[in-house]
Amino acid sequence: PDLPALDAAVSGCRACPRLVAWREEVAATKRAAYRDQTYWGRPVPGFGATDARLAVVGLAPAAHGANRTGRMFTGDRSGDVLYAALHAVGLASQPTAVAIGDGLELYGTRITAPVRCAPPENKPTPAERDRCRPWLARELALLRPTLRVVVVLGGFGWQALLPVLATPDPAGGHPGWVVPRPRPAFGHAVHVTLAAADPGAAAPLELFGCYHVSQQNTFTGRLTPAMLEDVLATAAAAAGL
Ligand code: SF4
Repeated sequence: PDLPALDAAVSGCRACPRLVAWREEVAATKRAAYRDQTYWGRPVPGFGATDARLAVVGLAPAAHGANRTGRMFTGDRSGDVLYAALHAVGLASQPTAVAIGDGLELYGTRITAPVRCAPPENKPTPAERDRCRPWLARELALLRPTLRVVVVLGGFGWQALLPVLATPDPAGGHPGWVVPRPRPAFGHAVHVTLAAADPGAAAPLELFGCYHVSQQNTFTGRLTPAMLEDVLATAAAAAGL
């Protein structure tokens, strides 16, 4: 399948009973400010270019953000911070993300997550993370011909992503990248170059860590807009964007 087919397929996944129940309960009860809206209430597919050179990997949809709008990081404070920074460094057509149909485009960039359903308290279990992993693996396999750089927002995404990168695509899309042992630790502005497992046939992957754009980080100043823009600008340059 191509990326649009994958996006359609993931949107129908019901593999995690706890997350299916939660995403649908949130969609039915709604936050008061959004009570006139129809919540998405399903897994959220990746968003952006189908020939992306740069991927941004987060954690999971927010209950009243992407779980409401159906698009990654759209409709909440985390997304406000992320899209403003993407726009500032030239990777997004506008600084705001309100809803599907708002005109937002990403340039050479795709935003995705290791867990596609909103989890209670933003905390997926290890079993849920592992169950969702094949969706991310397949998405990155489909992006592999163009993908050069991944920016990971937060330690959860970092831990979830490294095994995906190290594992050959079961559908034959790629043989994976070489992840050093011990695995590189997550940190803000950490940069690791991963050689392709088939270096004669594929480019290395540049991996960047960045603190997550959660309100816990942005309200406290642990992650400032300037810090986020610095990582994204460095990553964009590494991707040739
Ligand atoms: Fe499916 Fe992933 Fe959602 Fe679990 S978290 S139901 S595997 S899409």
